[in-house]
Amino acid sequence: MRLVTGGTGMVGSAIQADLKIGSKDCDLSNWAAVSAFFKEHQPTEVIHCAAKVGGIWGNMHYKGDFFRENILMNTHVIEAARLHGVKKLVAFLSTCVFPDQVSYPLSESKIHQGPPHASNDAYAYAKRMCDIQIRAYREQYGLQYVSVIPTNIYGPNDLFDLENGHVVPSLIHRCFLAREAGKNLEVWGSGSPLREFIFSEDVAQLSTWALEHYHESEPIIFSTSEETSIKTLVEMIAELLRFKGKLIWLSDKPDGQHRKPSDNAKLAKYLPNFEYTALYEGLKKTIEWFEANYPNIRK
Ligand code: GDP
Repeated sequence: MRLVTGGTGMVGSAIQADLKIGSKDCDLSNWAAVSAFFKEHQPTEVIHCAAKVGGIWGNMHYKGDFFRENILMNTHVIEAARLHGVKKLVAFLSTCVFPDQVSYPLSESKIHQGPPHASNDAYAYAKRMCDIQIRAYREQYGLQYVSVIPTNIYGPNDLFDLENGHVVPSLIHRCFLAREAGKNLEVWGSGSPLREFIFSEDVAQLSTWALEHYHESEPIIFSTSEETSIKTLVEMIAELLRFKGKLIWLSDKPDGQHRKPSDNAKLAKYLPNFEYTALYEGLKKTIEWFEANYPNIRK
């Protein structure tokens, strides 16, 4: 029986499973609730996507919440999986686990080689502990649990929070509102930072593959390893949303890390022919979904 946590979220909703849970079904930060849930449903495989996530602003301003919620959810889900005999588990880390000062490209072996970037260190440390827990459980209990590190994921069902969301959903939402109001679009920072974006449906396919075929103790990076500047990203979003106003760059808002290029060599070795959705195509699908579902989006 395959269980997906975070089943109503962007990645969880794109994965095929027997049972999906969202925050309304089970509070994963509450041990009694998690334990009772696993006892009742007896999953044999788990893809753990649930997390408290946010973009650069949310991560900077709610560090306590990001740390507590994530470390509790991870600890509880992995421990409940162990206690209730789950055979295989895939847990999601994030590229912000990587050290701020480290040689590029980022690869799986570099996670703990220095402190993470200060803007999201609380979230990053909570996620790093998920890696530690999995390695410890593998060593002590011989469990086949693994973790994966996707780069910036975007897609339908994302959290389209205007202030605290990630760059793609925040900008889609703000660009849509600016178009409707006939206003200009405010974009944060300089536009020069580079990010690697990956479509949620690609991540869903890759995490199902990891559940079935990936067994190493070291995490595996899910990335196209193609960098796109924030400026190029905004121009694509503006075009796809038929936005006719001007872009206003807010230099008092943070750029965050300039770039965080990743090395997808390990994944490419396992899946040399995997076809990633091109950024423009993925954004097109995401924006079509957004316009069709507005205002009933998560925000
Ligand atoms: P990060 O990859 O962890 O830094 O997370 P984000 O998804 O928040 O991406 C942040 C990058 O996008 C930074 O360079 C921001 O300056 C830039 N950016 C531009 N406009 C926005 C926006 O409206 N929201 C967010 N979150 N970032 C923005």
